[in-house]
Amino acid sequence: MPGNRIHQLSASLVNRIAAGEVIERPAAVVKELVENAIDAGASSILVEVEDGGRELIRIVDDGGGIAPEDLPLAFASHATSKLAGDDDLFRIATMGFRGEALASIGAVSHARILSRTSDADAAYEIFNRGGAISDAQAAAGNVGTTVEVRNLFFNTPARRKFIKGAATEFGHISEMLLRLALPYPHVAFRLSHNGRKALDLPATSAEERLLAAWPDDFRELRLPIDYRDAEIRLRGLVGLPELARPTGKYQFLYLNGRHIRDKFIQHALREAFRGLTEPGRYPAAVLLLELPAQDVDVNVHPTKIEVRFRDSGRIHGLVMAGIRERLLGSDLTPTAIPIRSDAVEAPRVEMREKLAEFFRQMPSEYAATVSAPALSPSPGTPGEGRGEGDFERRSTFEIPNHPHPNPLPEYRARGPELTPLALPSAPAIQLHNSYLVAQSDDGLVIIDQHALHERIMYEELLARVTRGPLESQRFLIPHVVSVSSRQLALLDQIRPLLERLGIEVTPFGPDSVGVQAFPSFLEKLDAGTFVRELLERGEQELLDMHGEELLHEILDMMACKAAVKAGDPLTPAEIEALLARRALVERSSNCPHGRPTTLRLSLRDLEKQFKRTGF
Ligand code: ADP
Ligand code: MG
Repeated sequence: MPGNRIHQLSASLVNRIAAGEVIERPAAVVKELVENAIDAGASSILVEVEDGGRELIRIVDDGGGIAPEDLPLAFASHATSKLAGDDDLFRIATMGFRGEALASIGAVSHARILSRTSDADAAYEIFNRGGAISDAQAAAGNVGTTVEVRNLFFNTPARRKFIKGAATEFGHISEMLLRLALPYPHVAFRLSHNGRKALDLPATSAEERLLAAWPDDFRELRLPIDYRDAEIRLRGLVGLPELARPTGKYQFLYLNGRHIRDKFIQHALREAFRGLTEPGRYPAAVLLLELPAQDVDVNVHPTKIEVRFRDSGRIHGLVMAGIRERLLGSDLTPTAIPIRSDAVEAPRVEMREKLAEFFRQMPSEYAATVSAPALSPSPGTPGEGRGEGDFERRSTFEIPNHPHPNPLPEYRARGPELTPLALPSAPAIQLHNSYLVAQSDDGLVIIDQHALHERIMYEELLARVTRGPLESQRFLIPHVVSVSSRQLALLDQIRPLLERLGIEVTPFGPDSVGVQAFPSFLEKLDAGTFVRELLERGEQELLDMHGEELLHEILDMMACKAAVKAGDPLTPAEIEALLARRALVERSSNCPHGRPTTLRLSLRDLEKQFKRTGF
C-alpha cells in the first residue's frame, strides 16, 4: 500500500503467523505439549480438556521439569534445550527440536507453565498472554511440568472461526493422543473431557500398548513383527489379511517413536500383502521403524509428519521382507465361524529362522521345485464346458504324473497349528460343481475350486516366469486387434514384459496390432480377446504400474482366465490333483484377488454350534 514503509515484523506477529501453520487446531496444541512431556522423560502424562480444547487444555507430566531461570526462555521463540550445535540437526533423537512450539502457542492463547525440577525446593510459574510474558514466580507444585492453554486463538479470529464443534475437536485430540501414546508403552496416558474420563492407557508391555490402536476383536488376529538388519529394526503388529479395511484407519506408522506418513513404507506394506487382500484394502498394521538418527532427515515438514530417508530402497525392502516373511509363516485361513478369543491360541508358531532362509531363497529355489508338466491345462472334455463366451471357455488341469513329486524343501514342513496346508486325509467331494469339501486334521475345509485353482496357477506361473520367458506358441496367421493410440503407447511400454510372458505383439496397420505368439498354457483362450481385454484394463488401471507390480497384475489375469470356473464339474481324479497341488503353493488360502480360497471349520467349532460344549 502506498505510504507504508518496509519494517521488521514484531516477534509476536511472526509467531502468530508461524503458529497458523503448526498450531491449526486444539489437537495440535496437545501434540506439541505431550511431545514435550515425553522428551522430558515423564512416566505419567495427564491431558485435561474443556470444551473441545477451546476453553482449556492442561497437560500435567512428572518429567524432569524446567529450571526457574529457564522458564522465560521456554516461551521464547527459537529457544530449545534439545539442539546443541548445528550438526545436531542431522541426528535428532527427541520429538521436539525447533524451540517454537511454546512460543507459538503462547502467542495465540493465555498460557501458563508451572514447573519444578527434582533438585528445586519449590515450583515456579510463568504466564504468556498472547505474547506478553510475565516474570517467573514461586508457586505450589510437584516435580514435573503443567502447561495450561486457555482461550486458544483469542487474538486470531480467522483461525478461531475454523475450529469445529467441541465433539469434533475432542475427537481429533483423542486420536492424536492415542497416536502419540502407541510407541511409549512405559508411559501412562490419561485423557479427560469436561471432567469425564475418555482414555486411560496405563503403563504396559509394548504389544499390549500397540493393541490399543485397534478394536478388541482384532486382538487374536494379530501377528507380531520383529525383524531387523544390521542397523534398521522393524517392530510392531500386522493384522491377518481379513482385517484389511477400505480405509487406512488401522494403519499407524512410526519412525523412531514419531508418527509419520510415508509413501514408500505404505507401498511396502501393500506389496507384502499382495494377493492376500482384495485390491484397494488397507491392511491393519502398527509399525515401528527404528534407524540411526543420521539416516533420516526429520526436518522437512512443519509438523514433522513427513521425513526423508537416506536410503529409502533399503527401508522399503526391509519392511516388505519382514512382513511378508511373517505372513508366509502363518496360518491365514479364515475360519468359517468368527472365533472368540477363547478359541485361538496366540501367539502363533514361530518359524522365523527357517522362513527367513526360505524367503531369501524364494525366487530361484522355489521356481526350481515346481514341476513344469503339471502346469499346462489339458483340453476340456467336449460337452462339459459352459460356453460362457469364448473367454470363459473351460480349461481344466492335467493330473500330474506323479501326484506328489516331493517338491517341498524340508524346512517348509509346518507345525501343528498350521493345519490348513496339510492334505485332507479322506476323499473330498464336490458340491454344486463349485465347492470342494474335505476332511482336515482338526475338522473340515470348504474350498472354492476356482479361487484355489487360480491361486495355484498364479504361484506356478510366477515361479516359471522367474526362470525365463514362458513357453509360447506362434500363430501362422496373427490375431488382429484394433487399438487406440493410448493403448499403443501402453503396449510399447509393456512389450518387454509381455515377451517374458510369451505374448508377442507387433504393429499391424495404423490402428491395430497383431498377436503373433501366445503362451502355450493359455491355448484354450482366444489370444486376440485376451490382448484386447488386457489393453482395455491397462488403459484404466495399469498405466501407472511398473515392473513387478504390472507383472503380478497380468499374471493374476492369466491365472484367473486359465483356472477352472465355478460350475465346472470335476472328476474325482481332478479333485485329487487339485488338492494335491494345494500343498505346492504358498499362501494357498487366498486367491490372487485376495478372496479366501478355503474356509475352515474345526471340530471344536462344530461342537460349539451343536451346543455340545459349554460355550
Ligand atoms: P522444543 O520442544 O522444540 O525444544 P518447545 O517450544 O516445545 O521447543 O519447548 C521449549 C523448551 O522448553 C524445550 O526445549 C524444553 O527445554 C522446555 N520444555 C517444554 N516443555 C517441557 C516439559 N513438559 N518438561 C520439561 N521441559 C519442557
Ligand atoms: Mg516441543
